[in-house]
Amino acid sequence: MSASDVPTIRLLGVDLARLETQEALGKIEDLYGSGEPSLIAFTNAHTLNLAAEQPTYKKTLGRAALRLNDGKGVMIAAWFQGKRFPHDLNGNFFTPRILSLAAERGWSVYFLGAAPGVAEVAAGRLVRLLPGLKVVGVRDGYFSPAEEGSIVERIRSSGADVVLAGLGNPLQERWLLRHLAGTGARIGVGVGAFFDFQAGEVERAPYWMNLLGLEWLHRLVLEPRRMWRRYVLGNPRFLYRAAREALGGRATRVRGPIDEPETGIGSAIPQETGNNLAIPQETGNNLAIPQEKAAGSVVPQERGKRSKARGASASSHSDLPRREQPMAEQIDLAPAAPKDEGSSSEEAEHVQRTR
Ligand code: UDP
Repeated sequence: MSASDVPTIRLLGVDLARLETQEALGKIEDLYGSGEPSLIAFTNAHTLNLAAEQPTYKKTLGRAALRLNDGKGVMIAAWFQGKRFPHDLNGNFFTPRILSLAAERGWSVYFLGAAPGVAEVAAGRLVRLLPGLKVVGVRDGYFSPAEEGSIVERIRSSGADVVLAGLGNPLQERWLLRHLAGTGARIGVGVGAFFDFQAGEVERAPYWMNLLGLEWLHRLVLEPRRMWRRYVLGNPRFLYRAAREALGGRATRVRGPIDEPETGIGSAIPQETGNNLAIPQETGNNLAIPQEKAAGSVVPQERGKRSKARGASASSHSDLPRREQPMAEQIDLAPAAPKDEGSSSEEAEHVQRTR
């Protein structure tokens, strides 16, 4: 399936792929095979709201090689148009499938994001769960702009084929768009709080809430101060926008310029074509980073880490991808450990990034 062959559903002016799980995995294989750096973006009600409000983020999403439908909100929005996504390819469900594919194909993976120590715990757990998975480096997601160059070089030195960036929206997609080519990896995926879920930092919603599409409500209860804006205001806003779009009105009212301009990226690629990224290749010295190429391995984190992450024991988990099982049974993929309640707001978290 070439990029332009991917069937899509347009929501709030953004084309989302309309693919079954296996088709989406096949598409990722195609992108990998193309040799070009490709951004995979999970696209949900929150990110589409961001795109509606921030023109440059909409462009960033438009440059992704593959935009996957993430969550029930976008499924409802498609239904407003009389259309249907075959599966809910949300990040918690689909990211382990990408990792499973990587393990099968021998692609090595780098985990970038979350608080210090979290990605390492997540990597340890996933390496145990997914035989053959090679995690060749981890790094937390709190760094200054001055550190970005060395992070890119470290990823390059690790030899990673795939970078999972869990930096939150919109930072992770922007970061990947700017730096994926420099890392030498072919596939970059924005995974949000995936590392937190896998490490047990954030408790996953119970199964019944997943089935009812209420995972957002669970996150709202866990982190009301950070999430209320995203969900209490964002969900109705998204549905309003989607309904308006379905009725033929304008999908969005762009309030920009909210965003900073994008820099360091290649020429704009029409969203409809879903082409790979055209990002100038960064060069620089290779930093010697220990990397372990053995199957089912994870290298130590590169920076000092605190002992926040916990609850990552994985031995008894049966939450590996089980492709032969019905979709509904494949959802719960993270250990349920009590969450360390964050005190900062979403805005404060973004300020902390000191980009
Ligand atoms: N994060 C990060 N660097 C930052 C800000 C956030 O690594 O500068 C991490 C944060 O620790 C969390 C993830 O990004 O692990 C984003 O979490 P969020 O709940 O926003 O993700 P989503 O709901 O989009 O999956």
